[in-house]
Amino acid sequence: MLVVMKHGATDGQVRDVVRAIEDMGYRARPMPGAQRTTVGLVGNDGRVEESRLVGIEGVLRVIHVSPPYKQVSREWWPENTVIELSNGVRIGEKDVVVMAGPCSVESREQILETAHRVAEAGATVLRGGAFKPRTSPYSFQGLGEEGLQLLARAREETGLAIVTEALDTESMGLVAEYTDVIQIGARNMQNYSLLRAAGRAGKPVLLKRGMAATIKELLLAAEYVVAEGESRVMLCERGVRNFDTHARNLFDLTAIVTIHELSHLPVVADPSHGTGARSKVGPLARAAVAAGADALILEVHPDPPTAASDGQQSLTLEQFDALMAELHPIANAIGRRIARARVPAHG
Ligand code: PEP
Ligand code: MN
Repeated sequence: MLVVMKHGATDGQVRDVVRAIEDMGYRARPMPGAQRTTVGLVGNDGRVEESRLVGIEGVLRVIHVSPPYKQVSREWWPENTVIELSNGVRIGEKDVVVMAGPCSVESREQILETAHRVAEAGATVLRGGAFKPRTSPYSFQGLGEEGLQLLARAREETGLAIVTEALDTESMGLVAEYTDVIQIGARNMQNYSLLRAAGRAGKPVLLKRGMAATIKELLLAAEYVVAEGESRVMLCERGVRNFDTHARNLFDLTAIVTIHELSHLPVVADPSHGTGARSKVGPLARAAVAAGADALILEVHPDPPTAASDGQQSLTLEQFDALMAELHPIANAIGRRIARARVPAHG
């Protein structure tokens, strides 16, 4: 970290900076220049309280030489992190993993039919919310533990791994008991106690980007999980708020590339929430694979008009089949392939 002093800053002000750095337990290296002095902070372990330096009289600005997120950064770990799920599926390698299923688990028939059909089409992970973060308290809130049991049943029947959301610290233990991957939703990306609980729950974590979060904030949120000892974190681009009303969100394809540059963690793309409209999901799913996403997470429903949540952006089973067929050549064109199940879809 470099502390750049204002032109004409006094020796006393430079000494104040040096003292503040040393008070925090680091070493300070003043570097006088022709125009201004810069003070280097040596030994930054990612916990420097920047505001203590910015507030000192005579300081112009603070420049980060290494990123404030440490363990999730590619500087820290140059190799891609590969996350292996209970069914042998590996995320972060050559294979592009497809996660598919309804927004919410609604009934035994709905989740089992969807699970079988998406597995047959080549998905290897089943999504479905049992605890739903709904904008309105009067909307369907999910089936709770019954939903988790139905997901477990679908896993038994199909060999699909499960990803489902943990909404609060109270239900974290219960969700972790059932699921293969704990989803942290966009609305909870900066719920730090929840991130810490996820980092201690013993399961891989799929962390969704907050709806107005920068990539840096997403990486810092992931750092909370990793700092608790859980290194199996995947980062999910699911669209951000936007001034244009043509789509529910602005699906940020650049984020897929940027996160790969900045971090070793796998990137998951969610064009369902990213666009909010069924007609846009396929094209953006194709684009996300082309941009290098390690996995897709897609909402699929046997009868979208009757869905309890997010029907407008859910693909039909037939649309999902057609999309899967389109994804293979796109993955192949960039030297990857769509992951195949390691266990048969039936029995
Ligand atoms: C979901 O996956 O259904 C969901 C609620 O997503 P997000 O947190 O991205 O809105
Ligand atoms: Mn949804």
